[in-house]
Amino acid sequence: MSLSTQSISSLRQQLTSGDIQPSDILDSLAESITSQNDSIGAYLSHDLDAAKQEANQADLSQPLGGIPIAIKDNINVKDQPCTCGSKFLDGAYQSPYDATVISKLRAAGAIPFGRANMDEFAMGSTTENSALGSTCNPNDITRAPGGSSGGSAAAVASQTAIAALGSDTGGSIRQPASHCGVVGLKPSYGRVSRYGLVAFASSLDQIGPLTQNVEDAALILNAISGYDSSDSTSLAQDVPDFTQGLDQGVAGMKLGLPKEYFGEGIDPSVREQVDQAIAGLESAGAEMVEISLPHTEYAVATYYIIAPAEASSNLSRFDGVRYGNRVDQPDDILDLYRRSREQGFGPEVKRRIILGTYVLSSGYYDAYYNRAQKVRTLIRQDFQNAYQNVDAILSPVTPSAAPLLGSDRDNPLQQYLADIYTLSANLAGICGISVPCGKVTSESGSQLPVGLQILGPHMGEQKLLQIARAAEIQAGN
Ligand code: GLN
Repeated sequence: MSLSTQSISSLRQQLTSGDIQPSDILDSLAESITSQNDSIGAYLSHDLDAAKQEANQADLSQPLGGIPIAIKDNINVKDQPCTCGSKFLDGAYQSPYDATVISKLRAAGAIPFGRANMDEFAMGSTTENSALGSTCNPNDITRAPGGSSGGSAAAVASQTAIAALGSDTGGSIRQPASHCGVVGLKPSYGRVSRYGLVAFASSLDQIGPLTQNVEDAALILNAISGYDSSDSTSLAQDVPDFTQGLDQGVAGMKLGLPKEYFGEGIDPSVREQVDQAIAGLESAGAEMVEISLPHTEYAVATYYIIAPAEASSNLSRFDGVRYGNRVDQPDDILDLYRRSREQGFGPEVKRRIILGTYVLSSGYYDAYYNRAQKVRTLIRQDFQNAYQNVDAILSPVTPSAAPLLGSDRDNPLQQYLADIYTLSANLAGICGISVPCGKVTSESGSQLPVGLQILGPHMGEQKLLQIARAAEIQAGN
């Protein structure tokens, strides 16, 4: 079996026994990238030679020793480009430092390898907002891989990466994982340092793994978690070994089914797969409890006020002066700002900046931004109330399977609405995971993956992963 198709734990066994060398894994990845990246487009760039040099020095005694990992192109890796899928940074920026997650991955022996495509500045749900290339869904290349971490999910699904890092502000790890048929974990807010992640919406962003299976997600979470003095929102809590107890099952657990997540709008074939996954967990001994998250109907509106507000502030640093491309021969400083931003940013990013500036401006701040913050508190309380009675919550990840490329390009509102099941977790700061649970047949006859979403309480990753592993077993993976 080709090495690029194998999980971290299987490769680690072969590495530690001396049967293979880290460079063998890179050779195998190079082969699959050569044969697949032209059609899938998961990577914006990669440097196999540099990775090989690192691989020769990899410390194989470490938990991820010798494992290459693809990195979403908004996470800084020293001396590599970091474009965020934007023309603004393309060819104009090399990271002068490693993000904390990258230093931690290196300390665990992993090799950050390759820059995965993404929606520009992580704004989008199909990776079609990337200004630098298109990515297809490896299950059906006429379809989108999801987004914004579409390159990371497509890399793992096309076996051109063993595992990848993505970022999730409103679903951008879980949703592409669901569409591509891989595991995607959004850690609790504060679990993983954001230092070195290019900020989209700082109160919502988290970095997390996209992997072939749940155990691999736990292995990567072990490596990247923990307090970091460079990120004041990271939490000073011990990091347990997330691989412990993975196989303990769900017997005796109570799992909540929010009635607001199973109402109108779900594609019946997606619903059928999710229902089967729920039945599987029930047969494994979990008790299903109907619950209510009554403020769900406000989640999309709340997110699409708070996220653009924070983005409009975070993206003000891109002005043609300090970072990225600058226009030639400006008339004056204002002309420099204006034209650099106008040429550097794509339409969705501009839309968010305008929206965000509007909701923060005087006269509208109280009506929109302040109100959205109050509703955010209500959404968080909905989850706190629910976790009084249940161990975790089950739901679909998305209302439908992967969309055709181009189908929603001119309809941003339609795309925003499809984020309904994922973005509340970011508003509430809790952890969530997408686990492949089945496939639906598209009109053209292709098989499109469907994910089961499991949402756990804040800092509840250990149990979340245990439930995810049980769901994986029930799905036959
Ligand atoms: N689709 C959502 C958005 O466009 C989420 C993006 C994300 O999580 N980065 O904002």
